[in-house]
Amino acid sequence: MSRGTTQTLEIAVLPGDGIGREVMGACLQVLQAAQGLCGGPALRCTTYNAGAQYYAESGVALPDETLKACKESSAILFGAMGWPDIRHADGTEIIPQLDLRMELGLYAGVRPIRWFPGLPRVLTDERAKEIDFVLVREQTEGLFYARGRGRVENDEEAYDTMQITRTGSTRVTEFAFRLAEQRKARGKSSRVTCVDKANVFASMAFFRKVFDEVASRYPAIEKDHAYVDAMALTMVKKPWTLDVMVTENMFGDILSDLAAGLIGGMGMASSADIGDNHGLFQPAHGTAPDIAGQGKANPCAMLLSAAMMLEWLAFRHDEPQLATCGTLIEKAVEHALAAGGVVPMEYGGAAGTADMTKAVIDALPIALRALPQ
Ligand code: ATP
Repeated sequence: MSRGTTQTLEIAVLPGDGIGREVMGACLQVLQAAQGLCGGPALRCTTYNAGAQYYAESGVALPDETLKACKESSAILFGAMGWPDIRHADGTEIIPQLDLRMELGLYAGVRPIRWFPGLPRVLTDERAKEIDFVLVREQTEGLFYARGRGRVENDEEAYDTMQITRTGSTRVTEFAFRLAEQRKARGKSSRVTCVDKANVFASMAFFRKVFDEVASRYPAIEKDHAYVDAMALTMVKKPWTLDVMVTENMFGDILSDLAAGLIGGMGMASSADIGDNHGLFQPAHGTAPDIAGQGKANPCAMLLSAAMMLEWLAFRHDEPQLATCGTLIEKAVEHALAAGGVVPMEYGGAAGTADMTKAVIDALPIALRALPQ
């Protein structure tokens, strides 16, 4: 396919720490190879400093230059940040990703979970092959509002306050319903589930009320509600029944790790942090200090996150070739795993980061031939 545009899009690349750096290296190789096959606008990927390691060297976790580049770029590719031994003076972790969410208004944490043929199944039920849902996590308020605001009184009592606003709840719920509409257009089921704890907390009852108001504007999309504890059970017992879920920040934080566990590990869990003006694409996993520096990380979550970026850019810039390129990467990951030649170490196989990267790059031309022309 030939390049049909002269547009160049700036991509801010923040590899971060630990395996974030390793999976980002893999991602940039795959992106280049995929774009070589698909064409579309050029992506100018520029790497910037941020994270715990950089903080240890410089005393700054998120330099102004990096933040400025993130604000000015078309999209942000993010590895992972944080390190157990490198902390702020008050003992808190270096997690600039939370600052970026607030600075750039990245209110929707989009966590798609689906089973890939070729992966060992965690759940023995045959229907586990049908797992295909998206968790949408509100990311700018909820219990995380308490970050930096919590207080301990007289060494006896501690308080962290949850914030739920109409604006925050409306925009993330709207996002979830629009996502369900897109899934419906692709022939998937289209139900949005509000995950809350409305039976106990006023804040959560309010979240549900706003959800219902938004839902009434989407009559073609089914809606329902679940308490977060019941949802944890449903996720394990019959996750194949789930479609799109929207939930509060802390609940989403916990449920997204549970969701990744359903498909065997963090290395397959992609994610996107989306706002009205910016998009940041990162694997759902952290820096994995236990395996960092050993070439063992599964890069697939990072690759699938880059595929999400391409799809998002395609829509925003009206560049369909970018969407094709995103689909190509997703299909190449699928093919590499399904072909059975590589099993990531995370799943007990022998394939490290370099093997997985090579397998995906080798699968790109095969995946391209299989794409509808
Ligand atoms: P954070 O709090 O930053 O999200 P975490 O400490 O909860 O991070 P991770 O860094 O995501 O957790 O790691 C959790 C477990 O999953 C670790 O055992 C790690 O080795 C494993 N893991 C995470 N990502 C990958 C990956 N891409 N490939 C293989 N194993 C991974």
